[in-house]
Amino acid sequence: MQSDYRIGQGLDIHRFQRGRKLILGGVEIPHHSGLLGHSDADALLHALMNAILGAIGKGDIGVHFPDTDPRYKNIASGVLLRQVIAMMKKSGFALVNGDITVLAQEPRLAPFFSAMRKKIARLMQVDENQINIKAGTTEKLGALGKGEGIMATAVVLLRKSP
Ligand code: MG
Repeated sequence: MQSDYRIGQGLDIHRFQRGRKLILGGVEIPHHSGLLGHSDADALLHALMNAILGAIGKGDIGVHFPDTDPRYKNIASGVLLRQVIAMMKKSGFALVNGDITVLAQEPRLAPFFSAMRKKIARLMQVDENQINIKAGTTEKLGALGKGEGIMATAVVLLRKSP
């Protein structure tokens, strides 16, 4: 049965490396290390894209933007998000809302939530109140708790476009 609503969830994780810029939610955050990856390693946008692709039944970002492809080397993930949004629209769906959680022992991300929401809303051409971002630590448990990297998860609800 075809539904007017689709749900998707996404997850991404990247390790820190010194000497790289930390980009999360399309926003540069001052920190001694950035995330290591083929693209800008924006784990937050990657989780969001995986959620959208999941909702429209189109796999994940690894399928569409393989890290073996030199076109995606150091690419800003916002550029990839625009492409994912184009795929979503082509599939006939629009965002109802997205809820994103970031797990990081450090740095403190709350001061950047507003800028991230603005950036994501602009990239997705939706209202800021359709995007929620929150963050937590892992209470110093495990690799994330040792500050070795950052994990993000996202859930999105899509509705069939009129
Ligand atoms: Mg990633």
